[in-house]
Amino acid sequence: MDLSNITFVEGGSGVIVIDPLISTETAAAALALYRQHRGDRPVIAVIYTHSHADHFGGVKGVISQDEVDAGRCRVIAPAGFLKEAVAENVFAGGAMTRRAGYMYGAALSKGPEGQVGAGLGATTSTGTVSLIAPTTEIISTGQQEIVDGVRIVFQLTPDTEAPAEMNFTFPDLGAVCLAENASHTLHNLLTLRGAVVRDAHEWARYLTESITLLTDDITVAFASHHWPTWGNERIVKYLSLHRDVYAYLHDQTLRLLNRGYVGAEIADLIELP
Ligand SMILES: [Zn+2]
Repeated sequence: MDLSNITFVEGGSGVIVIDPLISTETAAAALALYRQHRGDRPVIAVIYTHSHADHFGGVKGVISQDEVDAGRCRVIAPAGFLKEAVAENVFAGGAMTRRAGYMYGAALSKGPEGQVGAGLGATTSTGTVSLIAPTTEIISTGQQEIVDGVRIVFQLTPDTEAPAEMNFTFPDLGAVCLAENASHTLHNLLTLRGAVVRDAHEWARYLTESITLLTDDITVAFASHHWPTWGNERIVKYLSLHRDVYAYLHDQTLRLLNRGYVGAEIADLIELP
């Protein structure tokens, strides 16, 4: 329904929504589709995996500020989320939105001669973007929260794909959410839309940490884009390959930089093993 994934996790009495898409319209449609098949469960919590608009913009399509103010719904986000979300989408919002139009091609006509997809997902939706401030900040790795009876253990991954980002496991459900730290692409480190440059070295380091935190009973990994990965061994391999490619790009870029090459030359010279 959008560029990113919205995920529903059923708790004791309601549902936890992870990453409510870009627009309130697509998020509301996704929730309606979920309820059509699973019943009219209330949204007990929203989790933002990171500070990019495709992971929070549709929040008012699934909950209202009033519900949050009344204490009926929690909003959980990584430390620094609000500062970074405002920096990218308000301070630099005009430029970022305009450049994102070129980067994702959302205004092109759909079809084989226009836009067939945007790599990370179908396309960037063009509806109403909203934001509700978090009520719970995740401030350390290992922090545990019980949400509607569901145990969630968090891993903070700042300065990876986003300046404020986190992975988290559901130990009792055998699942891990990898946010946008491992999707089925080689992710851009320097974005065309002008988002903060990603630190490939830190990104690789946090993926190594993710592997060490992964217990044997985690058998499904899902993320903020693309399809899940099943099987513990496959998840570890998937994370290891992601880690290796970001570390390699980091190391080779610095090696060539230190030999006197500039960015465009380095891009031409790098070959993945
Ligand atoms: Zn995203």
